Amino acid sequence: MRSKEEYQKRRERMVREQIENRHLKNPALLEAMRTIPRHHFVPPNYRDAAYEDRPLLIGENQTISQPYIVALMTHLLRLSGEETVLEIGTGSGYQAALLAALSKQVYTIERHPSLAQQAQKNLNQLGIENVQVLQGDGSCGWPEHAPYDAIMVTAAAPKVPEPLLEQLKVGGRLVLPVGGLGVQRLQTWDRIEHGYQHEEVVPVAFVPLRGRYGFENDWYDI
Ligand code: SAH
Repeated sequence: MRSKEEYQKRRERMVREQIENRHLKNPALLEAMRTIPRHHFVPPNYRDAAYEDRPLLIGENQTISQPYIVALMTHLLRLSGEETVLEIGTGSGYQAALLAALSKQVYTIERHPSLAQQAQKNLNQLGIENVQVLQGDGSCGWPEHAPYDAIMVTAAAPKVPEPLLEQLKVGGRLVLPVGGLGVQRLQTWDRIEHGYQHEEVVPVAFVPLRGRYGFENDWYDI
């Protein structure tokens, strides 16, 4: 356990070296990353590594993404503060906290009950009130609150889940990794008046999306 000031110092350095230096200059995003205590979202034995340039284990064989990837995916959603956002793959709740700082309301779904519970606790302890966590299969979306201005999937999908495209507003954007079990490409999908436009951004490596529109479970079931 380090002091608050030490974590703050590390967070400043993380933003400068890992985010700004890699040309993400969105001021609201940088400010949110300077404020949200990433160490609060990782298990105690990883707190010391919370501001390093890499993903970390969070339990159930799942990971909190590398800070730069979190920043890049958030940047790609182009949030102004007014949006209703859906996240699939709550994990630790860190990405949800960042989305909550940059939008109006966040709905997030996590498949593992223990992670969903811990994420809700992490968010509550920080007094973040505009996030609702649901435990379940997020590959089908969350139709009750649809349509969404923005959707983010933080697990790798074999192909873009149809229900998520359907739950996107016209003018809205979906960001997700699509590809195989080892490596994927980050894609953006924009819903336009009469269909969708998609683009590929960078290669990434995420844990698999499971559930109805995800990868089938295999022997190691992560
Ligand atoms: N955004 C997280 C990191 C997510 S890791 C963070 O900031 O910490 C990907 C998460 O997706 C894992 O927790 C995994 O359990 C979850 N996941 C995988 N398939 C899912 C599904 N079908 N529905 C909901 N969550 C899923």
